[in-house]
Amino acid sequence: MNDLVETLIRPEIQALKAYHVPDATGLIKLDAMENPYRWPEALRDDWLAALREAELNRYPDPQARDLQAALREAMAIPDEMGLLLGNGSDELIQMLALAVAAPGKQTRAAAAEANGEALGEAPAETLTKATSGCPTLLSLDPGFVMYRMIARFVGLEYVGVALSAAEFALDLDTTLAAIEHHRPLLTFIAYPNNPTGNLFDPAAIERIIAASPGLVIVDEAYAPFTDASFLPRLGDWPNLLVMRTVSKMGLAGLRLGYLAGPAGWIAQIDKVRLPYNINCLSQASATFALRHRDVLDAQTETIRAERGRLASALAELDGGQGRLKPFPSEANFLLVRTRPGQAGALFTGLREHGILIKHLDGSHPLLADCLRITVGTPDENAALLAALAALLDDH
Ligand SMILES: *Cc1c(COP(=O)(O)O)cnc(C)c1O
Repeated sequence: MNDLVETLIRPEIQALKAYHVPDATGLIKLDAMENPYRWPEALRDDWLAALREAELNRYPDPQARDLQAALREAMAIPDEMGLLLGNGSDELIQMLALAVAAPGKQTRAAAAEANGEALGEAPAETLTKATSGCPTLLSLDPGFVMYRMIARFVGLEYVGVALSAAEFALDLDTTLAAIEHHRPLLTFIAYPNNPTGNLFDPAAIERIIAASPGLVIVDEAYAPFTDASFLPRLGDWPNLLVMRTVSKMGLAGLRLGYLAGPAGWIAQIDKVRLPYNINCLSQASATFALRHRDVLDAQTETIRAERGRLASALAELDGGQGRLKPFPSEANFLLVRTRPGQAGALFTGLREHGILIKHLDGSHPLLADCLRITVGTPDENAALLAALAALLDDH
């Protein structure tokens, strides 16, 4: 069996560690950027009534038209832009990666260039010269781990450009140089970034989009927690796409992401979507939830206010000695730096107090001594602060 595994499974897959989700049974869950608020009781009956109509014996609407319409309206997606739905935005990242290039294959632009042919007018031609080296997916590190993993799944080279050590800003010169050198087919920029929580300078992102030979996907998973967005900029560049998810706004259980951008791109990427990828219960539930968007908006507003309170409280936890340093955040979590060597003990100590957060020390050099804490309810945050106060007292 082991021999067979070694011969059959691609070596780069064997070398991967599976995406690990720790068991959170019985714990206060502040590790995964979920909205901590349940759907209000008053609306649950109406929601169940909507689900009663779902025809489980039939395949779902392959285009999820009702849901697409609800998303377009709720998120103000311009009519002329295409829209593609994924089973979570993770699936959209995978579709993008599958659509652009198979390993060892050339894009049409590269093939045409190699043959000395002139290029036509289709959007694919912005990928000129893209595959002179290895087909590449580029992003910024520390960043969202699925970009790297999915690049590996599909055989794309992953290039992670380091953020600058000071406050995790985008290092524009280094990023532009990497784009020039690697000619990435896909560049992902999380805005705000996970796990650092900050927004990058929008002018720097504009420069990256303008300089990129391939597609630039601005990943706005945390859109509900910031006022900044590139959605209104769709169409300003031929190679800009904006990706979002309903997960962080309060519907993580549904698995629904969406990708908006020029219709020519969306039509191509749609071809690698597996049929019926959004199941009928998710379609019905998300459509219902978006029609009651005010409920979700009120919840995300509360989380935004609570984020500010939690950041101040963390910074002042030990009477202002500064043993915990929360970084500025435009998302629903806080990245926190501990004193050197303390992150592991605080992570373990919190779990013993029944609280699960994310331990980031060791995952990237810039994340030394860092923890990531999702903003919870006021009660959950109070429990976190009390546990941290007790743990810091013991040290
Ligand atoms: C959580 C997250 C996602 C994944 O969202 P899903 O829709 O739940 O798959 C994508 N991008 C970033 C930056 C995230 O933090």
